[in-house]
Amino acid sequence: MYKINQNYLKLPGSYLFSTIGKKVNAYSAANPDKNIIRLGIGDVTQPLAPAIIEALHSAVDEMAHVETFHGYAPDLGYAFLRNAIVKGDYESRGCDIQADEIFVSDGAKCDCSNIQELFSLDNVVAVCDPVYPVYVDSNVMAGRTGTYDASTGMWSDVVYMPCTEENGFTPALPKKTPDLIYLCYPNNPTGMAITKAELQKWVDYANEKGALILYDAAYEAYISEEDVPHTIYECDGARTCAIEFRSFSKNAGFTGVRLGYTVVPKDLVRDGGSLHDMWARRHGTKYNGAPYIVQKAGEAVYSEEGRAQLKEQVAYYMNNARTIREGLREAGYTVYGGVNAPYVWLKVPAGMTSWEFFDYLLERAGVVGTPGSGFGPSGEGYFRLTGFGSHENTEKAIERIKKL
Ligand SMILES: *Cc1c(COP(=O)(O)O)cnc(C)c1O
Repeated sequence: MYKINQNYLKLPGSYLFSTIGKKVNAYSAANPDKNIIRLGIGDVTQPLAPAIIEALHSAVDEMAHVETFHGYAPDLGYAFLRNAIVKGDYESRGCDIQADEIFVSDGAKCDCSNIQELFSLDNVVAVCDPVYPVYVDSNVMAGRTGTYDASTGMWSDVVYMPCTEENGFTPALPKKTPDLIYLCYPNNPTGMAITKAELQKWVDYANEKGALILYDAAYEAYISEEDVPHTIYECDGARTCAIEFRSFSKNAGFTGVRLGYTVVPKDLVRDGGSLHDMWARRHGTKYNGAPYIVQKAGEAVYSEEGRAQLKEQVAYYMNNARTIREGLREAGYTVYGGVNAPYVWLKVPAGMTSWEFFDYLLERAGVVGTPGSGFGPSGEGYFRLTGFGSHENTEKAIERIKKL
């Protein structure tokens, strides 16, 4: 008789987006003539850049001929892509990362979820609060998080590190030392970044305590300020305490194409186990999840043409974020983020909860956003709007909010 992994039953389910969906559907049914603008989405909307489309087409054509056909991809990814990544993302920033430390994959979400399999079940996990839900969920399924308290929305064995207005959305170093520390900068959902000096403190802390930082840099391309690091390997000593996740989703529009990579430095060795060698043995490693065609498209992201086109795409979303940020400020809101990430994190008016503000915005302005409380208890009192929509809709939404 088979038995199931009981840990899966502990997952509270995707309450956030299903509730939003239900509320929006109910509103459109009751107001069929009202045009709803969605500024809650975490998906890109602009088409793939021409340089990428060209690379895709030519790779497809290669697959049609016996001389240029490609079967299973190499375990870590094609060398042409790993070399382009090292040159474009690390060498150019003075970081000591080698091509054979790059593991190409089908996106950062899977890598962020699966990485925890390398670690013992008794590791203590720390996350920022609020946070992208994937880090906690994957540890719940593994059985590392203890019991869930529905009233607080917290797991008994997880160390939560509040990120609030008071600490500038950069958490204090935890008093109870965790083993695995998930950090995401620039951050989803708050849109806030960390300075290199602040991140260095985390790297020093991890090295001193023997902890590991799991650094999600999915929004690296949106960084606009000088003192914000593009990769954790800009910090001294990160090679001995950090794994980094990168994605082509938000910088290049690959949310549907699927491509990402994870950096696992060879210096990460514990109890006779090299994390690099262990990650090379992970499930599904044989084809690394990313087809030749997609890896060729990824290579085009680093071409001169590709870079220029993607810079424009990022600028388009950041212009939306600026429109939201400045519009909300003019309307009297306190806003954060939107400078180094396409997310704007606003404080809901005093006396309202995040969900009350959601209803208010939907009913009064026909604008959909995401309640901050859905990302963790410290998100209560905040609300996320994203710059991923069309510019026209973004402007329209802000005009409506200003009239409230
Ligand atoms: C969108 C996003 C990712 C990227 O996920 P993919 O699987 O590469 O599409 C990773 N981390 C965060 C925080 C994100 O918001």
